[in-house]
Amino acid sequence: MTRFAARIRSAQERMANEGIDALCLSVGSDLPYLTGYRAMPLERLTMFVLPVEGEGTIVVPGLEAPRVETDGMPFRVQGWGETEDPIAIVDAHLAGSGNVLIGDETWSRFLVDLQDVRPSRTFGNAGELMAHLRIRKSADEIEKLLSAAATVDGVVGQLENVRFSGRTEKDVAREVTERTRAAGHDTMDFWIVASGPNGASPHHEPGARIIEIGDAVVVDFGGHQEGYASDTTRMFVVQEAPAGFDEAYGVLHRAHVTAVDFVRPGVTAESIDAVARDIITDAGHGDLFIHRTGHGIGMDSHEHPYLVEGNSQVIEEGMVFSIEPGIYKPGEWGMRIEDIVAVTQDGVERLNRTDRAYRVVA
Ligand code: ZN
Ligand code: ZN
Ligand code: ZN
Repeated sequence: MTRFAARIRSAQERMANEGIDALCLSVGSDLPYLTGYRAMPLERLTMFVLPVEGEGTIVVPGLEAPRVETDGMPFRVQGWGETEDPIAIVDAHLAGSGNVLIGDETWSRFLVDLQDVRPSRTFGNAGELMAHLRIRKSADEIEKLLSAAATVDGVVGQLENVRFSGRTEKDVAREVTERTRAAGHDTMDFWIVASGPNGASPHHEPGARIIEIGDAVVVDFGGHQEGYASDTTRMFVVQEAPAGFDEAYGVLHRAHVTAVDFVRPGVTAESIDAVARDIITDAGHGDLFIHRTGHGIGMDSHEHPYLVEGNSQVIEEGMVFSIEPGIYKPGEWGMRIEDIVAVTQDGVERLNRTDRAYRVVA
């Protein structure tokens, strides 16, 4: 059985257990996870209709049908012409299905139209069912996440020899993305270069600020390689660290190392967050750690599990997520250290492997 046939069968087993008649997937990563085909996020409807039993059908704009790989695949493809109504086609495939799950990222327009055409049918979010399937990565997926991580790690190494001072954040960010693409990434998803006081905004967009001597610079970047995401953050200090930085960095480093070492099957997602947070809080910086400790990563750069207070999800072998505590001092500086880690049978493996100390640059 191919990988996709196995995944489709797992989906159907879960659907049967939960009394779901059909699953509808459109844009986003759930569709390629089950079928190998990623729909273009356009106005024309692409919809994989998978009944609880039997073969599913990808209803796809006719002009895009040639892009769907069907060799040995356990589904049919139906192209629709420019003058056809794809909602009617999907409705026909859903036939007697009363209880349907629909992909979280589907345009709302299509859901509203499907509801209008058959008001007796109920729709729920497919997100939870799909997360169950996707949350534990196969060895092959972890291999891809590791090579994506190795690419950004290589770029971190290159950045040690790059001049930061006198350049705008935007200029350094462009260099980061160019180097990452040259090193093997197919796409870039984000490229945060946040210098000096801008570092206190965790998702700062690189701008016109000129980086100065004495700045701490947060560099957080990632993209996709062979369908899997990367995401790492390292700190760069331009010649000398700003006031209060070294003390806080020691705390952050300890929080990161301790949280990573704590990860193993059986602990909860929120307990990993607590381990990092307690160290930062005990050192007096708890109010400056203003986000969760991490997020799952796979085909999407943010997916389940989320390491956040209130998430009692039990961590299992094969889960892959970021550990990224941060300390943000408004008006002065920010700092974050981020690695992707994979849960093993009895512990954890770091997929990002560069030194967690900050780099001093020119
Ligand atoms: Zn983030
Ligand atoms: Zn992240
Ligand atoms: Zn990140």
